[in-house]
Amino acid sequence: MAGQMAVDPSRPHVVIVGAGFGGLEATRGLADAPVHITIVDQRNHHLFQPLLYQVATATLATSEIAWPVRHLVRRQENVTTLLGSVAGVNIEAKQVMLDGEEPIAFDVLILATGARHAYFGHDEWEPYAPGLKTLEDATKIRRRILSAFEQAEWETDAAERAKFLTFVVVGAGPTGVELAGTIAELARDTLRGDFRNFDTRSARVVLIEAGPRILSSFSEDLSGYAQRALTRLGVEIKLGRAVSKCGEGGVELDGEFLPAKTIIWAAGVAASPAAEWLHAPADRAGRVLVQPDLTVPGHPNIFVIGDAAHVETADGKLVPGVAPAAKQEGHYVAEVIRARLKGGSPGAPFAYRNAGNLATIGKREAIVDFGWIKLKGRIAWWMWGIAHIFFLIGLRNRLAVALSWLWIYVSGQRSARLITQGNIRKGGN
Ligand SMILES: Cc1cc2nc3c(=O)[nH]c(=O)nc-3n(C[C@H](O)[C@H](O)[C@H](O)COP(=O)(O)OP(=O)(O)OC[C@H]3O[C@@H](n4cnc5c(N)ncnc54)[C@H](O)[C@@H]3O)c2cc1C
Repeated sequence: MAGQMAVDPSRPHVVIVGAGFGGLEATRGLADAPVHITIVDQRNHHLFQPLLYQVATATLATSEIAWPVRHLVRRQENVTTLLGSVAGVNIEAKQVMLDGEEPIAFDVLILATGARHAYFGHDEWEPYAPGLKTLEDATKIRRRILSAFEQAEWETDAAERAKFLTFVVVGAGPTGVELAGTIAELARDTLRGDFRNFDTRSARVVLIEAGPRILSSFSEDLSGYAQRALTRLGVEIKLGRAVSKCGEGGVELDGEFLPAKTIIWAAGVAASPAAEWLHAPADRAGRVLVQPDLTVPGHPNIFVIGDAAHVETADGKLVPGVAPAAKQEGHYVAEVIRARLKGGSPGAPFAYRNAGNLATIGKREAIVDFGWIKLKGRIAWWMWGIAHIFFLIGLRNRLAVALSWLWIYVSGQRSARLITQGNIRKGGN
């Protein structure tokens, strides 16, 4: 195939599947190494997932949080980028198998294919309760939220209108909390005064969590603070309630039915099928149980990193599925490959450095836990904002996002309020 023609046969061929946080960092780490790299991704863009909820809630535009992979690596001459969907790995033949394309041969393989949302064995809920992972998911959720308000404007029956104005978010991790807080602000501030037949402030935003508290990865103190901040924004929080069914008209919670036209799933995560491709041991979420040097047991030339890998810290805790962990693992794997090229040994096993835990509640509050310091409120929000702007790619995007946030901060207005790809009232989804 055309992509393979560009491979320099005199150099080892490193194939990296996935241009997310892990895959890109591994690519950068091998910038001046004597290898040829082929990046394969099923999408043509690298996505900054931490701000995906802002696209879903009409705060940012899609192009502000995603960048073409090809452009990001254009100056790295040892890289070829291919748009393609990997369907498996032939370990014996050392080939990556693709949907509809010729296999790609590799000397070293790095699988960095991430994770997706999971419905605890109830995939049939997905059409009613989309999760948030891709730009398409985000624009779909945005369409559903904005269309619900449009439909409420047409509705004359109060009970039916209330269903359109009830937004249910399932799962109170950072994504669920961020979505619920922002939808509440959308209803209370942004859309206020735009509709004639109802007051947008009458919208209900319900956050459902099966566990005993929201944001369980934070300390009880910070999680309690976040709960009070969300309640102040008008979000109803239902703790210790498991969803037993999601359907067209709403959700069922331990026998109670909650009518709602918009349901968003932020509850479960499953790794991409890397373990199945490799026939490798995996944990319950499908993450490959890798060795301390992030290789697959018995296959020193195959690495799995990021959300697709089960990596443990020195004290036996699971390294969290967050962007800094994926980046650190990508960087580490590049170091291992470079050491091997020099004939050396990989050195020390991978060691995760906790870069902190952050979550926002609406446009003014956040909680931050760096281990050595815990912050909450506005100062935490500024820290969260600065950290995210710093990690965005490109000056133009940094300025655009900073300006959008500043504008929302002072005016409450969100500019990305567009219903695209179909009108639900006319049969879209
Ligand atoms: C909504 C949301 C909010 C988040 N918020 C935060 C946050 O605030 N802070 C934080 O640190 N982390 C956050 N995370 C987690 C963080 O985004 C992940 O931990 C990180 O993206 C993992 O990096 P990765 O490289 O393993 O995978 P990803 O970044 O997911 O990249 C995987 C890549 O693999 C590609 N791919 C997948 N399957 C195939 C295939 N079969 N063939 C070809 N290509 C394939 C995908 O297209 C993608 O580009 C969030 C995640 C989500 C979904």
